[in-house]
Amino acid sequence: MSSWREFIRDVEPYVPGEQPRGDSVIKLNTNENPYPPAPGVERAMREMDPAMFRKYPDPSAGMLTEALAKRYGLERDQIFVGVGSDDVLGMAFLTFFNSQKPILFPDVTYSFYPVWAQLFGIPYETPRLDADFRVKPQDYKRDNGGIVLANPNAPTGIYLPLDQVEDIIKANQDSVVIVDEAYIDFGGESAVPLIPRYDNLLVVQTFSKSRSLAGMRVGYAMGQKELIQALHNVKYSYNSYTMNMPSMILGTEAVKDEAYFQETTRRIIATREEAKRRLGDLGFTCTDSRTNFLFITHEKAAAPELFEALKNNGIYVRYFPASRTKDYLRVTIGTEEEMEVLYKFLESSCLDRI
Ligand code: PMP
Repeated sequence: MSSWREFIRDVEPYVPGEQPRGDSVIKLNTNENPYPPAPGVERAMREMDPAMFRKYPDPSAGMLTEALAKRYGLERDQIFVGVGSDDVLGMAFLTFFNSQKPILFPDVTYSFYPVWAQLFGIPYETPRLDADFRVKPQDYKRDNGGIVLANPNAPTGIYLPLDQVEDIIKANQDSVVIVDEAYIDFGGESAVPLIPRYDNLLVVQTFSKSRSLAGMRVGYAMGQKELIQALHNVKYSYNSYTMNMPSMILGTEAVKDEAYFQETTRRIIATREEAKRRLGDLGFTCTDSRTNFLFITHEKAAAPELFEALKNNGIYVRYFPASRTKDYLRVTIGTEEEMEVLYKFLESSCLDRI
């Protein structure tokens, strides 16, 4: 065997959710927003002049950074933007988790965290969530090389109250604490107001969920300027022009339309609460999700079989076969009409047959 094979970086990649094509599919498997982006996004898209693509984009994505700074009451140098929050989180792992000590994140959380840790050779430990999938803050009060908390957590949907998040940040002032707020706009208080008080806090958010732009790939981090500068230094050591022009322009339009954002998130929250009731009536147990998805289990229906039955009927949800999640399905909140199709299917036959 040629020796180059020995030196290939051996990694086990993250497995993204399926992206089935076609309009007949009800896609409740990757937590996308069921509503279109703000009307200004479509307008800006129509007005875009392809001649601009001749040039490189602004490496600092100044226009988008400015709009975000305004929206969150921060300075421009307190914001870092990237190609989806996966890009931002990966960059943050590479930048801040560079000690020999293990970083900490829960045993049940976003399954990309262990993948980045392995890719970058970062040791990690995974404190166990309690039996109700809640974070135990005392588990994060020990020597560590950094902390990552998704809040609300995924795939459980459970929110850790802000005073407990602050408690963890305060107890770890020698490490960077990343709070991944991919779903915060659907419930719960953001940690952004804590930024002026803690120089070790990095809050990461995304346009993929509450701003309906998963396909554009826009994410951002907010923190004190020293953290943001460190992120920029690593980014510019790897690839300066990460964000393309349409993403910057359309992302900026999405941030500007606060009313549309409020209205669509409100609708999704209302549909979620209705879904908790309807699925509860069908015998499902739902965690107290504050996100745009539910994490559900049923005593009489095995999750993998239900997953397959739904898929065979054109309804895609997500199943995580790991030991603590194997009895659950994660169901993204769709439009009211899509959710009705789901309820009807579950009501009609499926639960009897499984
Ligand atoms: N964090 C969490 C907790 C997520 O569930 C996701 C969605 N897969 C992301 C980050 C990344 O989302 P994106 O890269 O689309 O911003």
